[in-house]
Amino acid sequence: MEITENIFKIVDELGPEKIIYLYEPRSQTKAMVVVDNVSAGPAIGGVRMASDVTINEVRRLARAMTYKNAMAGLPHGGGKSGIIADPKTVNKEVVVRIFARAIKNLAEYIPGPDMGTDESCMAYIYDEISRAVGLPVELGGIPLDEVGATGYGLAVCADVAKDYVPLELEGARLTIEGFGNVGKPAARFFSERGVKLIAASDSKGTIYDPEGLNVEELIRIKDTTGSVINYKNGEVLKTTDLPTISTDIFIPAARPDVITEANSDVLDAKVVIEGANIPISENAEKMLHDRGILVIPDFVANAGGVITASAEYHGGTETQAFDRIKSTISKNTKEILDKVYSEKSYPRETAMIIAKQRVLRAMKYREWM
Ligand code: NAD
Repeated sequence: MEITENIFKIVDELGPEKIIYLYEPRSQTKAMVVVDNVSAGPAIGGVRMASDVTINEVRRLARAMTYKNAMAGLPHGGGKSGIIADPKTVNKEVVVRIFARAIKNLAEYIPGPDMGTDESCMAYIYDEISRAVGLPVELGGIPLDEVGATGYGLAVCADVAKDYVPLELEGARLTIEGFGNVGKPAARFFSERGVKLIAASDSKGTIYDPEGLNVEELIRIKDTTGSVINYKNGEVLKTTDLPTISTDIFIPAARPDVITEANSDVLDAKVVIEGANIPISENAEKMLHDRGILVIPDFVANAGGVITASAEYHGGTETQAFDRIKSTISKNTKEILDKVYSEKSYPRETAMIIAKQRVLRAMKYREWM
């Protein structure tokens, strides 16, 4: 196979600045890093570990981080990395340390946790290269998954979005696809607002009860048995059934591209708040909007994690991080939805124009412009 100049066909006015393939022949560890844009500061973005992670997925996620960090007003650009390995079977410490040594000199990229990696992985990276966010408390970190930073941001987003749908949160039905570090805290923060979780899924299946699931019990079952399907008093369905369940609020919080043009018609919801990154293809988002389903894009709604990571990096506290999540996500959601309804535009397009303008303005301060 040949490496061709075609690689440059994917660049645009923002980036990506660097696409790096990493290969360590002795352990055969394969990984990649995309540094998309660093005009606002060193890129913060997660390290995804999955056997099927691809360079295109990492590139799209890196761009999403550029927009997310710009939208949140953080002094950071966007990047992302992927380690091709099965997190359930590899020795994570060994693989992550090899990865960390390989990116030691890539000072413009600050790794954080993502699917398949956690705060222990960030601690190994920090030990190797003194550069990582999402660290354990013992190393001065704010445990963003434990405190539920991203899930909190999704609920804050709903507090604003409900007035535009319109939707009463008390008694509203909620479905969550992917009951992990985003999905579980989201269930908690929404239930505090009187929202009723009627279905949740993970890679093993979906649990469904139209009368409502007990959130604390479901979290306990997921943590102790590994899957939501072991929850009693609910109907067990397939993983792929979750998006077909009629609901008011749908939160995708698992893999990319779970809703595409091919299956978007099955979704019956009033509002979709994207907890996962790129969970819905751009065309499918437009089709949903045209059907009257409001979709709040990933880089607006799920910025809670990176806001907390940035607070940690700059020496802030958990309380400061939560205050910033609330003020930033409320303000951004309102700004975007005001434009969407007054200008009759799509939410992602509107949000991208705002985020892109911020990145382009930041780029003006850099010498290479
Ligand atoms: P996680 O690994 O903690 O949880 C993912 C959950 O999804 C697991 O329960 C897994 O079983 C389930 N899952 C896997 N494949 C599935 C499928 N096809 N259908 C339904 N469920 C499936 O990951 P996470 O940290 O919760 O991240 C989830 C998504 O949210 C990712 O896209 C991630 O990039 C994004 N995200 C995470 C954060 C964060 O703070 N953790 C912040 C922003 C965005």
